[in-house]
Amino acid sequence: MALLTLKDIGKIYASDGNVAVGVRGVNLSFERGEFVAVTGRSGSGKSTLLNVISGMDTYEEGELFIEGEPTSHYLQTDWEAYRERYISFIFQDYNIIDSFTVLQNVELALMHIEDKKQRRAKALDLIARVGLTSHIGHKGSKLSGGQKQRTVIARALAKDSPIILADEPTGNLDSATSAEIVALLREVSRDKLVIVVTHSFEQFASCATRHIRIFDGAIEADHVMTSPLATAPLQVVQTAPHPRRLSTVKKGFSLGRAIFAAKPKLSLFLCLLMIIGTLGIFLVTSLCGEGMNLFEDTHMFTYIDGRVVVTTRDGSVPSLDTVAALAATTGAQSYLRYDALLDEGRSYQVRLEHEGEVKRFAANCVYAEDFGNDVIGRYPEAAGEVLLYLPISWRPVFGSDTLTTNHIVYFGTGLTVTGVKYYYDNNLTPKCLLTEEGFRTLTAINYLRYNSEINITVTATDGSVSERFGYTDFYTSYEVESGKAYLYDPLYRAYMKTHPSATTSVKLSIMHREYTMYGPSNTVSFEKVLTDDALTDKSSAKPIKGSPYLGYGDTHLMLSPELTCAIAEEVLVKSYAQFSLFYADDAAAAAAAEQLAAAGYIAVPSSTTYQPDPYSTVVAVLLSLALIGVWGMAILFLAFFINLCSARALAAFGGDMAIMRSMGISVRVIRVAMYVRMLLSLIPAYVLVVLTAILIFTSPRFNAYFVYLYGWQYVLIFLGVLLLTLRITYLQVRRMFGESVKKSLRGGAVV
Ligand code: ADP
Ligand code: MG
Repeated sequence: MALLTLKDIGKIYASDGNVAVGVRGVNLSFERGEFVAVTGRSGSGKSTLLNVISGMDTYEEGELFIEGEPTSHYLQTDWEAYRERYISFIFQDYNIIDSFTVLQNVELALMHIEDKKQRRAKALDLIARVGLTSHIGHKGSKLSGGQKQRTVIARALAKDSPIILADEPTGNLDSATSAEIVALLREVSRDKLVIVVTHSFEQFASCATRHIRIFDGAIEADHVMTSPLATAPLQVVQTAPHPRRLSTVKKGFSLGRAIFAAKPKLSLFLCLLMIIGTLGIFLVTSLCGEGMNLFEDTHMFTYIDGRVVVTTRDGSVPSLDTVAALAATTGAQSYLRYDALLDEGRSYQVRLEHEGEVKRFAANCVYAEDFGNDVIGRYPEAAGEVLLYLPISWRPVFGSDTLTTNHIVYFGTGLTVTGVKYYYDNNLTPKCLLTEEGFRTLTAINYLRYNSEINITVTATDGSVSERFGYTDFYTSYEVESGKAYLYDPLYRAYMKTHPSATTSVKLSIMHREYTMYGPSNTVSFEKVLTDDALTDKSSAKPIKGSPYLGYGDTHLMLSPELTCAIAEEVLVKSYAQFSLFYADDAAAAAAAEQLAAAGYIAVPSSTTYQPDPYSTVVAVLLSLALIGVWGMAILFLAFFINLCSARALAAFGGDMAIMRSMGISVRVIRVAMYVRMLLSLIPAYVLVVLTAILIFTSPRFNAYFVYLYGWQYVLIFLGVLLLTLRITYLQVRRMFGESVKKSLRGGAVV
C-alpha cells in the first residue's frame, strides 16, 4: 500500500470574484524512500500541491489517502493530528521561531516526550547531527539562513515524521550552503518520503529518485529515475506511535512558559499593563469600599441573640420581683430590670489628650472583649480605667507607641488610659474597652446627663445667715471618694472661709424624661439632697486632674461614680417600665414574646426591631449604584488595557503561531499556552499589587488614605481579573485561528 495517494485532487481559489486554479486532476502516489523533486513555473501550483499534502490547505475535489485512509472528511483537529503524525515542513523562508533558541525550536517538536531529560538529550543529539552544537543557545533571529534551515531539518528529524515537505528550501541560500542543505536532507531522509519543490532541478539531481513537473496546476511529467527501494531499507518501517502522549494542558504549560521567557521585553510590558490595570481596580474598589458602610444596622434596640424587650401596656413600673417571676415562667436564662444601659450611649464622644495633641472621636464602649495579647500597656482592671482600640494611622499623631496613664479620655468624666491596641482595618470605629463595672457606671452617667434636666441648688447656712449658690450642671469623677461630691465655686469657697461652722446642703432637682417606643413616655421629677457629710473639700477646692471642663473660677458639682449610679438607679426605679429577658436564641425569644403578649405585656424580640430609615436607605442605594457604576467602568478600563496589551502580544506572535500549527501543534495546546503566558504576566503583577496594598495598610502613615480591603476582596478581584484575562485571550486566539494556517503563514511574520 502506498504511503500517500492523491486521486483526482483539485484545488480552486476563489477570492474577490476571481477564480484561480491551484491544482487540478492530480493523480500521484508516493512511497517511503522516495526523494521527489517538483518543478514548474512560478504560479503553476507547486506550493498549492505541498499545502494540500500537508493538510494546511483544504482540497475541493478528489481524495487524499494516507496509508490507505481517505481524508476528505477530516476536521481541523484531524488535520492537526495528521500533521503531527506525518508531516514535517521546510519553507524557503526558514519556518523557525525567531524568539526561540535553536534548542527550544528543536524541543518544540519533541513536546510529546514527557521526560525533560530525555527530551533534552534527544534535542542535543539531533542538533549535533545537523552540526549546530555550537549554536544551541542562539536565538533564531541571530542565525544565518543556512543555520536556520539546519535547525528546521533538525526539527523535522525530531518529529520523526514519515513525510518531509520542502518548499524551495534552498531558495534563499547561496550555492555552497544550498549544496550542504541538500546533502543533509538526503542524509537524514533515507527511509522517509521527501517532496521538494525547487526552481533548479540540478541542485537535487544527484539525490532525487523522481522528478515531477507541474504546468498550470496539472501534472505535466512524472519521471521515476531510481526505484525507491534501491535506496530505502527493504522492510516497511511503520510509523512508530508516539510513546506516551502528553496532555494538552501539560504541553500548553511548557509552551506558554517558553513563549513567556522568549520575549522578555514583551512579557515585562504585559506585566506592567497588568499592574496598572489591577492597581486601578484596587484603587476604585478601595474607594467604593466606603459604600459598604452606607447600610447601617438600625435596630431600635441593641440586637442580642435571644433578647426580648418587654414593657407594660399602661406604663406602670414593674417591680424587680415581677420581672424575676416573668423570667422564671417563660424560661428566660437571665433578665435585666434596667436595660436602658444596653440601648443608651453605645457610642460616646471621646476627647483624648496626649502631650498637647487632642483628638476627638466617636467610640463604641465595650466590655468583656478580648483584644488579644499584643496590647501596648495592659487591660483595664478598675472601673475608671480604659483600654483604647485605635486606628493605626493615629499612632504617629500621639508620637509614641505607648499612651501612658497620663492620657485621659472623657465621656462626661475622666478615665485613665491603661493601654492601647492599634488596628489596621480602617472601616472600624474606635473602641473603649472598660471593665464591666466601668461600663455600667459610664452608661449611668450618660443616661442621667442626656435624659434628665438637673438643677442644683447649694445652700449654706450659718446660724440665721443663709446663702444660696446657683448651679446648673454636674460631672462624675473617679477621683471623688465613694458616696461623696465635690463642690467648686469661688464665691462658695470665700463664704466658707468666713463662715467655717456653716452647714451646706445640695439639692439636685431632676426632671427625668424617658422615651420608649413601646408604651407611654414618662416624665418624673426627683429631688436628691446631699447633706453636709457627703460634701468634701468644701473650702479648699482645686481642680481635679483629668476633670473634663474644670478650671479655677468655674462652678461645678463633681459626683463620685457610686453616687451617680445610685441616683441613676433611683431615677430608673421610679419611672422605668422597660426590662429585658434573655433566652437561648432568637427562636426561643420569638416564642416567649408571644407568651408575654398573651400575659398582657408588650414584648418585642430585639431581632424584630430593625427599623430601616427610608431616606438614608434611598441615599445608600443611589450612592451604591453610583459606586458600582464607577467600579464597572474601572473594570471596563482594565478590560481595555488587557485587550490592548494582549492584542499587541498576540500580533507579535502571529507568525510563530502559524509555524507551530504547521507542525501539527493543536489549537488547544496553543490556546492553553497563551493562557499560561497571560497568567505568567498577571500573577506576578497581582502579587506585586497585593504586596503594595499590604504595605499601605500596615503603614501608620498611609493606612488612612485607602479604605481597608478584606481577604475575600483580594480573592474576588483576582478572580475577576483572571476571568477577564482568560476571556479576552480566548477571543483573541479565536480571532487568529479564524484564518487558515496557510493564510496566517502568509500574513504573519514568515512570508
Ligand atoms: P507556485 O508555488 O507554483 O508558484 P502556487 O501554488 O503558489 O504556485 O499558486 C498556484 C495558483 O494558485 C496561482 O495562480 C496563484 O495565484 C493561486 N493561488 C495560490 N494561493 C492563493 C490564494 N491564497 N488565494 C488565491 N489564489 C491563490
Ligand atoms: Mg510557491
